[in-house]
Formats: sequence, structure tokens, C-alpha cells
Amino acid sequence: MNVILLGPPGVGKGTQGELLMEALGWERIATGDLLRAARREGTELGRKAQEYMDAGELVPDDLIVALVEERLEDLSSDTGVLFDGFPRTVPQAEALSEVLPRVGRELGGVVVFECPDEVLQKRISGRRHSPDSGRVYNVYFDPPETEGICDEAGTPLVHRQDDRPETVARRLEVYKEQTAPLIRHYENSSTPVLRIDGDQSMDEVQTALRSALDEELGVGDSGA
Ligand code: AMP
Repeated sequence: MNVILLGPPGVGKGTQGELLMEALGWERIATGDLLRAARREGTELGRKAQEYMDAGELVPDDLIVALVEERLEDLSSDTGVLFDGFPRTVPQAEALSEVLPRVGRELGGVVVFECPDEVLQKRISGRRHSPDSGRVYNVYFDPPETEGICDEAGTPLVHRQDDRPETVARRLEVYKEQTAPLIRHYENSSTPVLRIDGDQSMDEVQTALRSALDEELGVGDSGA
């Protein structure tokens, strides 16, 4: 089973994907995480992606498709895969539908997470990371005890360049212009499209996601 998690930045795809991965024993291919790792490692891909990411723009399709293809080739075709943050454009979706059969896979469904822009703006632009403990805070919803300092590590928190309000606004625009058309693209295909309300607590979203996957795709705790 291969499932795409689709939705605007900040809707909680990453968190939900991780919870699902733990529950079902699937692999997750999160292109944003892979690109950030490439940047930390200073690879050629990381250097090429940096400018686009910091401006809230999409990294060119050919770089992303090559990255995903490489990851898929490394995985056994028995493992379920969650695509998180990919595809983000119609050409990426078309490339995925060519790559999947080549690696012995088939797309099972697309999950669309929905949430109002104002909520997304606060969720993303309020995020602060601790490079030392790895903990993520939110200045609106989950602030540290001392402003700007990690409770666990006692060291300063970081505001990611692409989480700054002006970049967040651009990321939301890019989602509407380039990624949201994928919903129609998949609705016009034979792939099931499931819609989940992302404006709920993390646990509520996970419960809704698990029951939608179970009811509509027959994906339960047993894996499949
Ligand atoms: P994310 O963590 O998924 O929000 O991704 C962070 C940034 O990485 C995005 O704003 C894009 O610049 C880039 N990125 C991640 N996935 C893709 C993709 N599938 N296509 C193009 N750019 C991407």
C-alpha cells in the first residue's frame, strides 16, 4: 500500500505521518526532511535546494523526482510507503505514477488534510526549534518557560528561515497555486481521495485518519 499525504504547510502531515508510520510499520518519504538533511550534510542537492526553500518556493521537479526515486529503489516493495510533501505539482504526480509500477508499487489513496489559513499561519510562524534537544515549541500554543530558551537544553531556540511570516505567506500561496490542483487531478483518476479536517487536536486528527484509512482503504493495524 502506498498513500500520499497532501495538505498545506503546517497542517500536521509530518506529525500524523510519523504516528501512522509507528502504528503500521510503514516507511515515510518526506521530501522536506530529505532536503533539510541534504542541506545539513552540504551535498550538491542541499546547496541547490537552499535558495528555493528559504524563499518558500518549490525546488525544481527533476531534483525532487530523482530524490524520491532513489529512496524508493532502496526500499523493499513489501513495505507500505507514506509520501509526505510529495508530489507537490502535477508533473511530480505524473512522474510518480510512472515510477511506482517500475518499483513494483501501486498508489492506494490520497489523504487531503484541510485547515484555515489563519490557523496555519500561527502554527508555522510560531514554531521554534531547539537545535540541542530537538524539541519543537510554538510561541502561541506551546511556549517555553523562558522566552526564546529551550526548557530542556537551556540554550537559544531557532526560528527557521522558511517559518518566518513572509515566507509562510508565500508557502501558502505556492500550495494554492501549484499543489492544491493535485486534489482535482486525483479526484479525476481512479485513486480514492480521503478528506480529513486538520483543524483539530493531534489525537483527533489521528483518530479521524486511522478510521478513514480503515473504512475506505482497508488499512488497519495489521499493516497490509
Ligand atoms: P516541507 O517541510 O514539506 O514543508 O518542505 C520544506 C520546503 O522544501 C518547501 O517549502 C520546498 O521549498 C521544499 N520541498 C519539499 N518537498 C518538495 C517537493 N515535493 N517539491 C518541491 N519542493 C519541495
